[in-house]
Amino acid sequence: MPKYIFCTGGVVSSVGKGVTAAAIGRILKARGLKVAIQKLDPYLNVDPGTMSPYQHGEVFVTADGAETDLDLGHYERFIDENLNRACNVTAGQIYSYVIEKERRGDYLGRTIQVIPHITNEIKRRILLVESENKPDVVIVEVGGTVGDIEGQPFLEAIRQLRLSIGRPNCLSVHVTFLPHIGATGELKTKPTQHSVRELRSVGITPQVIIARTDYPVDKDTVEKISQFCDVDEKAVIPLVTTDLLYKVPLELEDAGLGDYITEYFGLQVSKPDLSSWRKMTQRMRAAQEPLRIAIVGKYVELHDAYMSVKEAAFHAATAQDRRPEISWIYSGDLERERNWDLLKNVDGIIVPGGFGERGIEGKILAARYAREHRIPYLGLCLGMQVMCIEFARNVLDIEDATSSEIEGNAAHPVIDLMIDQRGIKDMGGTMRLGIYPCNLKPGTKSYAAYGVPQIHERHRHRFEFNNEYRTLYEQNGMIFSGLSPDNLLVEVAEIGDHPFMVGSQFHPEFLSRPNAPHPLFSAFVKAAIEHSHHPTTENGYIPRDRIVESGE
Ligand code: GLN
Repeated sequence: MPKYIFCTGGVVSSVGKGVTAAAIGRILKARGLKVAIQKLDPYLNVDPGTMSPYQHGEVFVTADGAETDLDLGHYERFIDENLNRACNVTAGQIYSYVIEKERRGDYLGRTIQVIPHITNEIKRRILLVESENKPDVVIVEVGGTVGDIEGQPFLEAIRQLRLSIGRPNCLSVHVTFLPHIGATGELKTKPTQHSVRELRSVGITPQVIIARTDYPVDKDTVEKISQFCDVDEKAVIPLVTTDLLYKVPLELEDAGLGDYITEYFGLQVSKPDLSSWRKMTQRMRAAQEPLRIAIVGKYVELHDAYMSVKEAAFHAATAQDRRPEISWIYSGDLERERNWDLLKNVDGIIVPGGFGERGIEGKILAARYAREHRIPYLGLCLGMQVMCIEFARNVLDIEDATSSEIEGNAAHPVIDLMIDQRGIKDMGGTMRLGIYPCNLKPGTKSYAAYGVPQIHERHRHRFEFNNEYRTLYEQNGMIFSGLSPDNLLVEVAEIGDHPFMVGSQFHPEFLSRPNAPHPLFSAFVKAAIEHSHHPTTENGYIPRDRIVESGE
């Protein structure tokens, strides 16, 4: 039977509870333990798949095709395990499941209530992680902060679970924040005290407090938190904001948290080995020479919307001793002749995934710029689709080539709805999702990047390259270097006569790890470094015919 670590948050949100949970996972894994991490999200959406990136940031896709919270991306990157749909549970899933059962008559006429029906279902879902992943330790992170109304059933379920699993098998970690008062230069512990009191009021006593802060914490403050919150002094861990996420496991380890947890559980473990992780962070820190990368997207003011893309670029660049200097470019600005100076000065361009019409012409312009100026380009899902649209318009002279996502009755939908997507009305969870195999064509850049004939990558899309145009593209220099095993779906496209212009229908960013950069990102970075050694291409060029007046 595994041990359980319940991770709650207090004082304020957005202090990195997800990264903290992930980092705890890493220090336990470093002791030879198998770790799984689950996120409980108290909102009523069934999953974040239908939520706006402004609300939620990136949607992370698991191997088994669940559309999940971006914290799962942190978990996978830190513990280097593939998680599954059991690892993200929302209140929406819980309630709809219970209500469905009620409609079927499964409850035999009983009144359905938050306690016990909702809480029982939450407990069942928490225990599913154990049976599906067979871990030694399960870390369960509860989204939001204590005191949130919608979080209460989750905390109540955890309280009950601690009884049935047995308290010695459960550990509660509370992540709080210490505000800094500028006038007196003090860090305040009162909000942490209140937050712990709030947690106690629902019957959960924390054994560990992680005190997030922007300033160094002195011993007195630690003692004070320990006393007022009744937590062992060595289990009060100050965690100062760092510019390098991957340092967090090392900070927790150096503060003694790994030993504290394993001793608490009485686990026999091997000596922690974080040496390669430490080396990796040193290399990341040492990478100072900038590599200028543009990310051209629609939600660029919110970097969280491209979390995995940003991390994957960071992993690949720092592994080649470069620090990615990212220009976030709103594609709609390119349509309006703005920000071209940013795009002109980069060593590589990434067009990430996206949905809908807004800003798409700007992404097509970015692809054109990359092709014509021979700037390394990596297209991710929509980024591959716009690369194909651009090629049709400007190389194949099909002026009105487009995607049927932009125009339903297009004369030349070079990107079209997949057959099995036609007629689908429900938006939630109905895309082509999760892992699919893809065969790579020998002799291509994609094959060279991976070095193997077959790969498995994660997908999240409804549209695909339209096979009616395949031959025409191939006759004009496009290489379809990755195909589904039945040859029916184009999964990777690349331009033969270009230093590196590759687009994938899947999302390689989900498989990148800090200690194992993704091959496509590495190949892209290599090409971008190569490009950075050459003087910048001649001044940028804006194809006037494609400038649209209002794209928003
Ligand atoms: N909107 C496109 C599609 O559904 C691309 C999706 C994506 O980039 N994830 O096919």
